[in-house]
Amino acid sequence: MTGLEEIYKEIKSCKNCNLWQYATQTVLGEGPQDAKIMIVGEAPGKEEDRTGRPFVGRAGKLLRDTIGSYLIKKVYITNVLKHRPPNNRKPKKGEIEACSKFLLEEIKILKPKVIIALGSTASKFLTGEEKINVAFEKEYEFMGAKVLVNYHPAAVLRNPRLYDKFKKKIDEACVNL
Ligand code: SF4
Repeated sequence: MTGLEEIYKEIKSCKNCNLWQYATQTVLGEGPQDAKIMIVGEAPGKEEDRTGRPFVGRAGKLLRDTIGSYLIKKVYITNVLKHRPPNNRKPKKGEIEACSKFLLEEIKILKPKVIIALGSTASKFLTGEEKINVAFEKEYEFMGAKVLVNYHPAAVLRNPRLYDKFKKKIDEACVNL
């Protein structure tokens, strides 16, 4: 078993917080183990919970279309939480504390060059900065990776005026591919 497979096995049987009870299934990371770029979102949504794949709903389509069908195959996509919070509510502090150990393992195994944190939950966890607009303008370092903060594509869907900035940040990160 590879390192990731071992982590996936652990996630599938995890009951470290209550979220497993409400979810249809776990949503594991997706992408090559030698990916130079890791994308980290908040948690699975309705479509992700249904299919078991990260970023496959409307927001995921926006992300995947922005990166492009060729480059997306070179990127590893995951979330801070591996089970969907009921009704897509914000994850609680305890849930993030319970689940983030899996993200740390994923980073340890993949050793990405760049991590793109999408949205405030991933941004806060990886940068320690509370305000996403502040983090968006800076660069951080986490476990040896450069961290770039971007808006969550769901926020871009709600406010399409963010799209240009969102795309520019994705393009900036993809230079590393
Ligand atoms: S959300 Fe994370 S910590 Fe909570 S049960 Fe699922 S895998 Fe375990």
